[in-house]
Amino acid sequence: MKIYNTLSKKKEEFEPICEGKVSMYVCGPTVYNLIHIGNARPMIVFDTVRRYMEYKGLNVNYVSNFTDVDDKIIKKANEEGVEPSVISERYIEECKKDMKALNVKPATTHPLATNEIDGMLEMIETLLEKGHAYVASDGTVYFKTRSFKDYGKLSHKNLDDLRGGNRSLLVTGEDQKEDPLDFVLWKPKKEGEPYWEAPWCDGRPGWHIECSVMSKRYLGDEIDIHAGGEDLIFPHHENEIAQSEAANEKPFAKYWMHNGFLNIDNKKMSKSAGNFFTVRDIGEKYDLQVLRFFMLSAHYRSPLNFSEELMEAAKNGYERIVTCVSNLNYLIEKAQVNEIGAAADGESERSYLEEAKSYIAKFEEAMEDDFNTADAISSIFELVKYTNTKASESSSKEFLTELKNVILMLSDICGLIVEKEDEILDDEIEALIQERQDARKAKNFARADEIRDDLLKQGIILEDTREGVKWKRA
Ligand code: AMP
Ligand code: ZN
Repeated sequence: MKIYNTLSKKKEEFEPICEGKVSMYVCGPTVYNLIHIGNARPMIVFDTVRRYMEYKGLNVNYVSNFTDVDDKIIKKANEEGVEPSVISERYIEECKKDMKALNVKPATTHPLATNEIDGMLEMIETLLEKGHAYVASDGTVYFKTRSFKDYGKLSHKNLDDLRGGNRSLLVTGEDQKEDPLDFVLWKPKKEGEPYWEAPWCDGRPGWHIECSVMSKRYLGDEIDIHAGGEDLIFPHHENEIAQSEAANEKPFAKYWMHNGFLNIDNKKMSKSAGNFFTVRDIGEKYDLQVLRFFMLSAHYRSPLNFSEELMEAAKNGYERIVTCVSNLNYLIEKAQVNEIGAAADGESERSYLEEAKSYIAKFEEAMEDDFNTADAISSIFELVKYTNTKASESSSKEFLTELKNVILMLSDICGLIVEKEDEILDDEIEALIQERQDARKAKNFARADEIRDDLLKQGIILEDTREGVKWKRA
């Protein structure tokens, strides 16, 4: 499996630190509003990376934070006259709803910055002890950038160029910095803002220290993959590396992955310019699976332009797969023959199946090449096309079911739900109900409950009556 590493600017063979395991940290959103479709891009692409790795049998520990203390959250809280936690809790809930609709798996852990302050105080203390940080007279703690010799290695920026005249790095109110490149680890509280007690001053953490600490706490000093949008390369990730490596004295992340930006009508999507859509906006017009499909139809590192036209194309593409699965379901229910055998044209269904399965290899090849989801989806299309020519009313149930399972499996690696809920076959439900009855008889209540819950997730409600188990669709 090859991954493009921003650190080396090359595609590298992926070799996890611990065989069979992957530790992955993805910078999550700042929660002061509904997430926009740009925020959804890293969620979708890195969820797909995770799904593919899990499909390959790797055990992925996936951590993605919510930044729940930030100027924008505080501003919004003041506007509404509520505590900042009311704002962040509200938008974390909303974000989770959007993630679910986009079929983004919940992370193994979703840490919140405000729950991790102790770890931040500890890391800042370590940086001070090791001479990588200093306290200004107002209590602000700054990271001493020039003390970290590898600074700039991720963004491939030359420190001297940066230092010479990069005015944009001078932030108002940070005039006690020894060097314009130094950045804030801890800042003093302001009136009406949330704060925590600290040895240097009551205050709150800088943004970069949050991720260094949450990554360390949940994944350890050295991790396999750190990811986020390309806007985070500098300064956020560069600063994270400086903090983590200076404090832990170990290499931080082995692979750095960054997604390209999502633009709207070929212009940079920006909240201030007002040309952005929330995931909710898009959900009013499209099934959000179409948005997921749209995001994966481009390579994750390429810039991606969002337009009505491209969404319509994505809708057509997605529906082509859905329709194929729906046809298969229809044929499966009608099938006269169960066992795989001769095909209508005299060939053997088994040889067709072999051919169909060759698309799995094509799909994998695309994914192994730095997660080329565009090509991976093309191989699903080819499989769909092949299926449409080979599946017929005279096909066996087994053949049709096998074809369907391959399409579902590849779609699922992309996180695409291509079988509609009301298409889940009655036979499958009956079989699961029977399995549940058997589990209960064997006193395996855990399995019985699991089946009931799984069915519930698919909208099937079970009712235990005196005459036996009845079911209905929710
Ligand atoms: P933020 O809430 O701004 O920290 O963003 C959360 C995540 O969304 C980060 O990984 C950003 O890089 C990413 N992101 C924000 N805007 C876009 C965009 N227009 N295209 C792609 N990724 C974005
Ligand atoms: Zn981060």
